[in-house]
Amino acid sequence: MKCGAVFFDRDGTINKEVGYLADLDQLVLYPEAARAIRTVNESGMKAVVVTNQSGVARGYFDEAFVLTVHRRMAELLLADGARIDGFYYCPHHPDEGLGEYRKDCFCRKPKPGMLFAAARDMSIDLKRSYMVGDMMKDVEAAENAGARGILVKTGYGGGRVSSTAKPVYVASDILDAVMWIMGNERREHTDR
Ligand SMILES: [Mg+2]
Repeated sequence: MKCGAVFFDRDGTINKEVGYLADLDQLVLYPEAARAIRTVNESGMKAVVVTNQSGVARGYFDEAFVLTVHRRMAELLLADGARIDGFYYCPHHPDEGLGEYRKDCFCRKPKPGMLFAAARDMSIDLKRSYMVGDMMKDVEAAENAGARGILVKTGYGGGRVSSTAKPVYVASDILDAVMWIMGNERREHTDR
């Protein structure tokens, strides 16, 4: 049986937005992140990170560094009892960088490729899933995947750019977003 998931953007949603995170010392998790992700774990939904990392295409850091950041993030969260079920990243950019990384890929948000890949890998029902992020392209990626998008006001979320996408909720931070999702899940399941 397929399960629902909460997809999380990384920078500006789980950890502080620092521009291009290119040094492990810049990885600082928001204090609410572990509790938010733990709450998703306890609900039986998957918790999945989906992040655009065009810093790879731009030559600011390599893919090994992205994996190092994700390993550290997983350790920090696990120390607080929170588990990430999968990390997905897009190293491409359509018109920056060189070689194989410069391409119009299907994974870079707002495209839904990473959500589709995770859905395949983990038997996720995207219609029962949510994407939480600090940019409208996160909300657009949710809609393009048939999931629901929630905008957080942390990171770049304070300065909202216009978009035709419609977040189902605008949250103050990752924990507010997850609490809203849990309430919404209860509402939908009692309505049936
Ligand atoms: Mg972000």
